[in-house]
Amino acid sequence: MPQRPYIVGNWKMHGTRAMLSEARAIDRAAQRHMKVEVALAPPYTLIHPVHREAEQIGVGAQDCHHEDGGAHTGDISAAMVADAGAKFVILGHSERRQNHAESDEIVRAKAEAALSAGLRIILCCGESEETRAAGDAVAFVKEQLKASLPADHAVLTNGSANASERVTIAYEPIWAIGTGNTATVEDIAEMHGEIRALLIELFGEEEGPEIRILYGGSVKPENASQILSTAEVGGALVGGASLTADSLMGIALAA
Ligand code: PGA
Repeated sequence: MPQRPYIVGNWKMHGTRAMLSEARAIDRAAQRHMKVEVALAPPYTLIHPVHREAEQIGVGAQDCHHEDGGAHTGDISAAMVADAGAKFVILGHSERRQNHAESDEIVRAKAEAALSAGLRIILCCGESEETRAAGDAVAFVKEQLKASLPADHAVLTNGSANASERVTIAYEPIWAIGTGNTATVEDIAEMHGEIRALLIELFGEEEGPEIRILYGGSVKPENASQILSTAEVGGALVGGASLTADSLMGIALAA
């Protein structure tokens, strides 16, 4: 059965408690639009407050450490974000890969830790402008995904019947993030089709088609309906336009 479109707000390093009113407004609006699954990944400091107040939206983290605990000043484990109320975690975002030198191996270890802590994962992938210009975007993204996803199916499902209950993919071309440049619908359709084929190869004919593939990169209410109606686009990962209820829900309404 096809899942509901999934619209996930990634607040990045934005938001103090003053922003909780916006999260409440998103939650209220989401209760009126149950055809769409809305979720929010605020900074760590707001996970628990948003979790306490939200009735409808899922709350998640933007990252977690790959170890359970130990001498890692400033880091947060998967169990800690789950304890704070997170239901999912975004992993392998290009800003983490670039700013924190996260390799595919680290992203895979984080995914394993998150899944075994009972979290769902949103695994990000995407090519740079240079890679696209060189004509290597599809090969790069497929390799990145293969190397970042846990190889063990039992880890990926962690007790659920189907990997799609645990795993979501987000395709985010780096050059489209926060730039106002979105990929063309042709490019999105091509990449999502390639990712779908890879997921079927990795997960089989039953589970592969069910895993949602989100698009991310300058999604806003004005372009959402075109992007969200593109083949194999199961929702959106939204940065800048997720900071107000009006714009995030404008995107959700377009789904
Ligand atoms: P953007 O960010 O919507 O601001 O481009 C998307 C993301 O990084 O997830």
